[in-house]
Amino acid sequence: MMNAAGAVVRNPSLPGARRLAAEASTLAERLPELRCGLCGGGIPAKGPFFRASGDFLPRGDPLATYCNAPLHWECYARWPQRPKFALHFVDAWVKANRKNPFWWAVYQDEAVYISVNPLRSVEEASLRLYALGNDIRVRLADWVRWLADVRSVTPNLQPCELEALAEVLPRLRQRFPTDHALVDAIDPAEKRPRSASA
Ligand SMILES: [Zn+2]
Repeated sequence: MMNAAGAVVRNPSLPGARRLAAEASTLAERLPELRCGLCGGGIPAKGPFFRASGDFLPRGDPLATYCNAPLHWECYARWPQRPKFALHFVDAWVKANRKNPFWWAVYQDEAVYISVNPLRSVEEASLRLYALGNDIRVRLADWVRWLADVRSVTPNLQPCELEALAEVLPRLRQRFPTDHALVDAIDPAEKRPRSASA
């Protein structure tokens, strides 16, 4: 069971646990507003905002301070360092995915990296645009509808996301007209250890 703050309450029937849960939810209400890593302005904790999670840049890198930092979408979209930052972020995902037994790489070009989780409990595609780095999730059952009209399936996309997607959608429609085409692109050998010569 989860309380409002997202903490797991193991046995809420205990008076002590109930008190702790109440304290945790009060704490959540008192949490300070987030600050944008680029302009310093406030961001509502519930968003929307962009955050590149993970320490994917070496500590000395001048862009490392922006890892894990919440950023206004508008600030992020017009940030001159964004393409470089996003590229590092996507590359880290590509690398991590090679060891992830659930997500399979199905497509990669200079603008987008697509992986698929075909497990019945998930059945999703994940698109990472190199221009932005964020994760756009599409249920495989919605893929065809999404290709035809992204906003009908993913209505909360930001203007910068729609702009970047507009560039890649024509080739996705051509290459993966159905969700079956996506799943068929899974390479069963992807997760096998590669020999040094390969
Ligand atoms: Zn900002």
